[in-house]
Amino acid sequence: MPEKEIRKVFSEYPDIIYGFTDISYCSYKRSYRSALVFAVPYGEQLTPDDYTEERFERGIQTARGRLETVVSEIEQVLQKHRTKYWIPPVAQENETELRALFSFKTAAARAGIGWFGKNDVIITERYGPRVRLSAILIDEVFAYGRPITVGRCPETCTKCVDICPCKALKNRQWTIEMDRSEIIDYQKCNRMRSAFIKKLGRKNACGLCLAACPFGRQ
Ligand code: SF4
Ligand code: SF4
Repeated sequence: MPEKEIRKVFSEYPDIIYGFTDISYCSYKRSYRSALVFAVPYGEQLTPDDYTEERFERGIQTARGRLETVVSEIEQVLQKHRTKYWIPPVAQENETELRALFSFKTAAARAGIGWFGKNDVIITERYGPRVRLSAILIDEVFAYGRPITVGRCPETCTKCVDICPCKALKNRQWTIEMDRSEIIDYQKCNRMRSAFIKKLGRKNACGLCLAACPFGRQ
């Protein structure tokens, strides 16, 4: 059983939040029994006062570097135990549906790491939404986290909704049955971010609705 060794890896990274969920809710259940999900805090925990797109993008890249290190350590454990696993890609499948093959956010809520905020991002108690998520599907059973099924945003908070430059957020409290389209007009958000490809050589990272969140502010 690799669980003990995986938990040992995370004991070396006490700032990273992690959890396990069974994946009987999704189509990958035919090949894997569980998902390990983890949330690496962004390099900088920005607020609207110190937010710039460049700093936000840098913070994402720093978290990505750390995340890759952890993934490779977990892979070593799984390979040692000859356990079947798969690392789903972060990227969305295409520019039409704008959905990833496996939703890290849904798995994070089911593993008890956080809830979907009114900004459609996973909100953790510790860092708010200022985390980068990753997941590994594993054909093994683990001690699972307690799923979070309802949003815990204060009813009166609209900070993320108000700051969005293209008014993509719909001010809806999340429940696990909801479709993403009830919370966010993702096409609007993506259009705004894609408009920067010519100028930046990539989409605008836009973390305004994350920076605005009062959860996790230091
Ligand atoms: S990422 Fe930016 S554009 Fe998209 S919903 Fe958040 S604030 Fe709006
Ligand atoms: S800013 Fe407020 S409404 Fe938006 S995700 Fe954070 S707590 Fe929820």
